[in-house]
Amino acid sequence: QRAKWVVGNWKMHGRLADNAALLQAVVQGAGAFGEAVRVGVCVPAPYLAQVQTLLAGTSLVWGVQDLSAYTHGAYTGEVAGEMAVEFGATLAIVGHSERRAYHAESDERVAAKTVRALEAGLTPIVCIGETLEQREGGATEAVVGAQLDAVLAVLSVEQAARIVVAYEPVWAIGTGKSATAEQAQEVHAFLRARLAAKDASLAAVPLLYGGSVKADNAETLFRQADIDGGLIGGAALKSQDFLAICAAA
Ligand code: 13P
Repeated sequence: QRAKWVVGNWKMHGRLADNAALLQAVVQGAGAFGEAVRVGVCVPAPYLAQVQTLLAGTSLVWGVQDLSAYTHGAYTGEVAGEMAVEFGATLAIVGHSERRAYHAESDERVAAKTVRALEAGLTPIVCIGETLEQREGGATEAVVGAQLDAVLAVLSVEQAARIVVAYEPVWAIGTGKSATAEQAQEVHAFLRARLAAKDASLAAVPLLYGGSVKADNAETLFRQADIDGGLIGGAALKSQDFLAICAAA
Protein backbone atom coordinates (compact mmCIF):
# COMPACT_ATOMS: atom_id res chain seq x y z
CA GLN A 1 0.00 0.00 0.00
CA ARG A 2 1.59 3.26 -1.15
CA ALA A 3 1.33 6.38 0.98
CA LYS A 4 -1.34 8.92 0.07
CA TRP A 5 -0.28 12.55 -0.25
CA VAL A 6 -2.12 15.84 -0.51
CA VAL A 7 0.16 18.83 -0.94
CA GLY A 8 -0.96 22.43 -1.31
CA ASN A 9 1.03 24.61 -3.68
CA TRP A 10 0.24 28.13 -2.58
CA LYS A 11 2.10 29.61 -5.57
CA MET A 12 2.62 33.38 -5.04
CA HIS A 13 -0.32 33.77 -2.68
CA GLY A 14 -0.56 34.55 1.00
CA ARG A 15 0.05 37.25 3.55
CA LEU A 16 0.94 36.71 7.21
CA ALA A 17 -2.61 37.15 8.51
CA ASP A 18 -4.20 35.03 5.77
CA ASN A 19 -1.62 32.27 6.21
CA ALA A 20 -2.25 32.11 9.94
CA ALA A 21 -6.02 31.85 9.51
CA LEU A 22 -5.70 29.21 6.80
CA LEU A 23 -3.20 27.04 8.67
CA GLN A 24 -5.03 27.24 11.96
CA ALA A 25 -8.19 25.99 10.28
CA VAL A 26 -6.32 23.23 8.44
CA VAL A 27 -4.58 22.06 11.62
CA GLN A 28 -7.90 22.01 13.45
CA GLY A 29 -9.48 19.91 10.72
CA ALA A 30 -6.46 17.66 10.24
CA GLY A 31 -7.51 15.22 12.97
CA ALA A 32 -10.29 13.99 10.69
CA PHE A 33 -8.00 12.29 8.17
CA GLY A 34 -5.38 11.13 10.66
CA GLU A 35 -2.26 9.19 9.81
CA ALA A 36 -3.42 7.72 6.51
CA VAL A 37 -2.71 10.84 4.44
CA ARG A 38 0.47 12.90 4.36
CA VAL A 39 -0.62 16.51 4.16
CA GLY A 40 1.77 19.29 3.23
CA VAL A 41 1.94 22.88 2.09
CA CYS A 42 4.56 24.45 -0.18
CA VAL A 43 4.73 28.13 0.60
CA PRO A 44 6.58 31.22 -0.63
CA ALA A 45 10.04 31.15 0.98
CA PRO A 46 9.55 34.30 3.12
CA TYR A 47 6.80 32.48 5.01
CA LEU A 48 8.84 29.42 6.00
CA ALA A 49 9.51 30.78 9.48
CA GLN A 50 5.84 31.49 10.05
CA VAL A 51 4.80 28.09 8.78
CA GLN A 52 7.40 26.39 10.94
CA THR A 53 6.03 28.17 14.01
CA LEU A 54 2.42 27.28 13.18
CA LEU A 55 2.95 23.68 12.02
CA ALA A 56 5.77 22.38 14.24
CA GLY A 57 4.41 19.53 16.31
CA THR A 58 1.40 18.97 14.02
CA SER A 59 1.00 16.16 11.50
CA LEU A 60 1.48 18.59 8.61
CA VAL A 61 4.71 19.00 6.67
CA TRP A 62 5.87 21.96 4.62
CA GLY A 63 8.29 23.02 1.95
CA VAL A 64 9.23 25.34 -0.87
CA GLN A 65 8.02 25.68 -4.45
CA ASP A 66 11.47 25.77 -6.01
CA LEU A 67 15.10 25.67 -4.93
CA SER A 68 18.42 26.69 -6.37
CA ALA A 69 20.49 24.16 -8.29
CA TYR A 70 23.43 25.26 -6.08
CA THR A 71 24.27 25.10 -2.38
CA HIS A 72 25.44 28.73 -2.06
CA GLY A 73 27.20 31.41 -4.05
CA ALA A 74 26.66 34.44 -6.22
CA TYR A 75 23.11 33.57 -7.32
CA THR A 76 21.11 36.68 -6.51
CA GLY A 77 17.53 35.95 -5.57
CA GLU A 78 17.93 32.18 -5.26
CA VAL A 79 17.06 30.08 -2.21
CA ALA A 80 19.17 27.02 -1.36
CA GLY A 81 17.55 23.80 -0.23
CA GLU A 82 19.66 23.91 2.94
CA MET A 83 18.09 27.28 3.82
CA ALA A 84 14.60 25.79 3.63
CA VAL A 85 15.72 22.82 5.73
CA GLU A 86 16.82 25.23 8.47
CA PHE A 87 13.15 26.20 8.74
CA GLY A 88 11.95 22.62 9.03
CA ALA A 89 11.03 22.18 5.36
CA THR A 90 10.92 18.59 4.14
CA LEU A 91 9.41 19.14 0.65
CA ALA A 92 10.48 20.97 -2.49
CA ILE A 93 8.41 21.25 -5.64
CA VAL A 94 10.75 20.98 -8.61
CA GLY A 95 10.04 21.69 -12.26
CA HIS A 96 6.56 23.11 -11.90
CA SER A 97 5.23 24.03 -15.34
CA GLU A 98 5.14 27.70 -14.30
CA ARG A 99 8.90 27.51 -13.59
CA ARG A 100 9.49 25.70 -16.85
CA ALA A 101 7.41 28.23 -18.82
CA TYR A 102 8.24 31.56 -17.13
CA HIS A 103 11.75 30.84 -15.88
CA ALA A 104 13.01 28.74 -18.77
CA GLU A 105 13.74 25.68 -16.65
CA SER A 106 14.97 22.90 -18.90
CA ASP A 107 14.69 19.18 -18.20
CA GLU A 108 18.39 19.25 -17.30
CA ARG A 109 17.92 22.08 -14.81
CA VAL A 110 14.97 20.29 -13.26
CA ALA A 111 17.09 17.14 -12.95
CA ALA A 112 19.91 19.11 -11.27
CA LYS A 113 17.47 20.66 -8.81
CA THR A 114 16.04 17.24 -8.00
CA VAL A 115 19.51 16.00 -7.07
CA ARG A 116 20.12 19.12 -4.97
CA ALA A 117 16.84 18.69 -3.14
CA LEU A 118 17.73 15.11 -2.25
CA GLU A 119 21.23 16.11 -1.16
CA ALA A 120 19.76 18.84 1.05
CA GLY A 121 17.47 16.27 2.68
CA LEU A 122 14.25 17.43 0.99
CA THR A 123 11.70 15.22 -0.76
CA PRO A 124 11.47 16.57 -4.31
CA ILE A 125 8.00 16.66 -5.85
CA VAL A 126 8.98 16.51 -9.51
CA CYS A 127 6.33 18.03 -11.78
CA ILE A 128 5.80 16.91 -15.34
CA GLY A 129 2.99 17.42 -17.83
CA GLU A 130 2.06 18.11 -21.41
CA THR A 131 0.51 21.20 -22.99
CA LEU A 132 -2.86 21.08 -24.74
CA GLU A 133 -1.11 21.28 -28.11
CA GLN A 134 1.07 18.31 -27.21
CA ARG A 135 -1.92 16.27 -26.01
CA GLU A 136 -3.91 17.05 -29.13
CA GLY A 137 -0.89 16.09 -31.20
CA GLY A 138 -0.79 12.69 -29.53
CA ALA A 139 2.52 13.45 -27.83
CA THR A 140 1.51 13.15 -24.17
CA GLU A 141 3.45 9.97 -23.40
CA ALA A 142 6.49 11.12 -25.36
CA VAL A 143 6.55 14.43 -23.48
CA VAL A 144 6.00 13.18 -19.93
CA GLY A 145 8.21 10.15 -20.58
CA ALA A 146 11.08 12.39 -21.66
CA GLN A 147 10.55 14.74 -18.69
CA LEU A 148 10.66 11.79 -16.28
CA ASP A 149 13.61 10.14 -18.02
CA ALA A 150 15.67 13.34 -17.75
CA VAL A 151 15.33 13.19 -13.97
CA LEU A 152 15.79 9.44 -13.63
CA ALA A 153 18.94 9.63 -15.75
CA VAL A 154 20.81 11.54 -13.05
CA LEU A 155 19.54 9.59 -10.01
CA SER A 156 20.69 6.32 -8.50
CA VAL A 157 17.90 3.84 -7.80
CA GLU A 158 18.23 4.68 -4.09
CA GLN A 159 17.76 8.39 -4.87
CA ALA A 160 14.89 7.77 -7.28
CA ALA A 161 13.08 5.81 -4.56
CA ARG A 162 12.95 9.03 -2.51
CA ILE A 163 11.20 11.26 -5.06
CA VAL A 164 7.53 12.02 -5.53
CA VAL A 165 6.24 12.65 -9.06
CA ALA A 166 3.34 14.98 -9.82
CA TYR A 167 1.58 14.67 -13.17
CA GLU A 168 0.18 18.10 -13.92
CA PRO A 169 -1.21 18.54 -17.42
CA VAL A 170 -0.52 22.19 -18.26
CA TRP A 171 -3.99 22.61 -19.78
CA ALA A 172 -5.59 21.60 -16.47
CA ILE A 173 -3.65 23.99 -14.22
CA GLY A 174 -5.72 26.91 -12.99
CA THR A 175 -8.25 26.40 -15.76
CA GLY A 176 -11.01 24.71 -13.77
CA LYS A 177 -10.78 21.95 -16.38
CA SER A 178 -9.31 18.93 -14.59
CA ALA A 179 -8.18 15.89 -16.51
CA THR A 180 -10.83 13.21 -16.24
CA ALA A 181 -10.04 10.40 -13.86
CA GLU A 182 -9.54 8.12 -16.89
CA GLN A 183 -7.15 10.53 -18.61
CA ALA A 184 -5.12 10.97 -15.43
CA GLN A 185 -5.07 7.25 -14.61
CA GLU A 186 -3.86 6.42 -18.11
CA VAL A 187 -0.84 8.73 -17.75
CA HIS A 188 -0.15 7.60 -14.18
CA ALA A 189 -0.12 3.95 -15.25
CA PHE A 190 2.30 4.87 -18.02
CA LEU A 191 4.55 6.73 -15.57
CA ARG A 192 4.50 3.90 -13.05
CA ALA A 193 5.55 1.44 -15.74
CA ARG A 194 8.33 3.81 -16.78
CA LEU A 195 9.59 3.99 -13.20
CA ALA A 196 9.37 0.21 -12.79
CA ALA A 197 11.36 -0.25 -15.99
CA LYS A 198 14.31 1.53 -14.34
CA ASP A 199 13.99 -0.66 -11.26
CA ALA A 200 11.08 -2.75 -9.98
CA SER A 201 11.31 -1.02 -6.59
CA LEU A 202 10.43 2.33 -8.20
CA ALA A 203 6.87 1.19 -8.80
CA ALA A 204 6.37 2.39 -5.21
CA VAL A 205 7.16 6.04 -6.04
CA PRO A 206 4.09 8.13 -5.14
CA LEU A 207 2.38 9.64 -8.20
CA LEU A 208 0.27 12.72 -7.51
CA TYR A 209 -2.17 14.35 -9.90
CA GLY A 210 -2.38 18.13 -10.14
CA GLY A 211 -4.56 20.46 -12.19
CA SER A 212 -7.90 21.85 -11.03
CA VAL A 213 -8.35 19.33 -8.22
CA LYS A 214 -11.38 20.50 -6.24
CA ALA A 215 -13.47 19.18 -3.39
CA ASP A 216 -15.96 17.74 -5.86
CA ASN A 217 -13.60 15.85 -8.18
CA ALA A 218 -10.89 14.75 -5.74
CA GLU A 219 -12.50 11.51 -4.68
CA THR A 220 -12.98 10.23 -8.24
CA LEU A 221 -9.40 11.09 -9.13
CA PHE A 222 -7.90 9.61 -5.96
CA ARG A 223 -9.86 6.38 -6.37
CA GLN A 224 -7.83 5.51 -9.48
CA ALA A 225 -5.36 2.67 -9.03
CA ASP A 226 -2.24 4.70 -9.84
CA ILE A 227 -3.19 8.09 -8.38
CA ASP A 228 -1.67 8.43 -4.91
CA GLY A 229 -3.00 11.88 -4.08
CA GLY A 230 -2.79 15.41 -5.38
CA LEU A 231 -0.85 18.62 -5.75
CA ILE A 232 -3.40 21.33 -5.16
CA GLY A 233 -3.22 24.95 -6.31
CA GLY A 234 -6.22 27.24 -5.96
CA ALA A 235 -8.22 24.92 -3.72
CA ALA A 236 -5.36 24.79 -1.20
CA LEU A 237 -5.99 28.43 -0.32
CA LYS A 238 -9.40 27.72 1.25
CA SER A 239 -9.33 25.59 4.37
CA GLN A 240 -12.69 23.93 3.76
CA ASP A 241 -11.80 22.96 0.20
CA PHE A 242 -8.32 21.78 1.14
CA LEU A 243 -9.62 19.71 4.05
CA ALA A 244 -12.30 18.14 1.85
CA ILE A 245 -9.62 17.16 -0.66
CA CYS A 246 -7.47 15.67 2.12
CA ALA A 247 -10.47 13.71 3.36
CA ALA A 248 -10.98 12.33 -0.17
CA ALA A 249 -7.44 10.89 -0.34
P1 13P B 1 -4.70 24.44 -9.65
O1 13P B 1 -5.13 23.41 -8.60
O2 13P B 1 -4.98 25.83 -9.23
O3 13P B 1 -5.18 24.08 -11.00
O4 13P B 1 -3.09 24.35 -9.71
C1 13P B 1 -2.48 23.11 -9.83
C2 13P B 1 -1.02 23.28 -9.64
O5 13P B 1 -0.34 23.86 -10.46
C3 13P B 1 -0.42 22.72 -8.42
O6 13P B 1 0.97 22.74 -8.48
